[in-house]
Amino acid sequence: MSVPPECAARAEAAYLGLALGDALGATVEFMTPREIRAQFKVHRDIKGGGWLKLKPGQVTDDTTMALALGEAILADGGRVEPLSCARAFDAWMRAKPVDIGNTVRRNLIAFRKTGSPVAPPSEHDAGNGALMRVLPVALATLGQDEAAVRAAVEAQAHVTHHNPDSDAACLFLALTVQDALAGAPLRHLYRRRIAPFVAAYPAFAYRTRRRENPSGWVVETLQAVLQALLDTGSFEDCLIDVVNRGGDADTTGAIAGMLAGALYGREALPARWLRALDPAMREACRTQARALLPA
Ligand code: MG
Ligand code: MG
Repeated sequence: MSVPPECAARAEAAYLGLALGDALGATVEFMTPREIRAQFKVHRDIKGGGWLKLKPGQVTDDTTMALALGEAILADGGRVEPLSCARAFDAWMRAKPVDIGNTVRRNLIAFRKTGSPVAPPSEHDAGNGALMRVLPVALATLGQDEAAVRAAVEAQAHVTHHNPDSDAACLFLALTVQDALAGAPLRHLYRRRIAPFVAAYPAFAYRTRRRENPSGWVVETLQAVLQALLDTGSFEDCLIDVVNRGGDADTTGAIAGMLAGALYGREALPARWLRALDPAMREACRTQARALLPA
């Protein structure tokens, strides 16, 4: 399958969107909406800081884990192999990332002991750590049938998060990103993906109340992202909406960024944010997005 140039540009926008949302949101991660308002009125610029004391334009684990996963997929000729994913994540952890989730750390330490790249199923491992890094899988499996996408999504997810809610969210996000890459407008994503997903998994229902302060629980994360996506009409507005909800803002920003990047495309990414993003990171995202797409 060869990918049309418009689709390749959207893939690049999705990858850059992931990094932009991560860098934007990290400044206000773990703050409440009230604290954000007191400090910034509206947080709308990539400026670093936050609890991780980041440099302006620096990203966190959300982006760097996705890049590590993408490298592993490329090294395996586009296949998503559990053992390669586990080794890549393990090497990523050894390189002392700026941040690491508890579930990721625990299950990578278990991998070092057991050598098994599949974490034991756990009803508690429903964090957003597998969801935030799913983009390279969505790109590498573009054009494949749903069963193949599901297998690839779960191969990477189960290294650290072996949980039905995480699985459902990861498959949903990968398929929705793929539709957006193909040029589907938001109303199609809603009808074809979002509404059926929430009907099948009512825990994710996002219309009950405004989700502020979303935790790292995959359900709250996705609720905040879907509300922000459906309540706005541009890449910039979507990301500003979601990160100003606070909570796990780098991760909601990253996930909203990949989705809105794929949906609104390259031209929609604010130039001031792209300028602020670490240049090496910007280049890595661009290059990897294009390399992962099927030839
Ligand atoms: Mg992070
Ligand atoms: Mg986070």
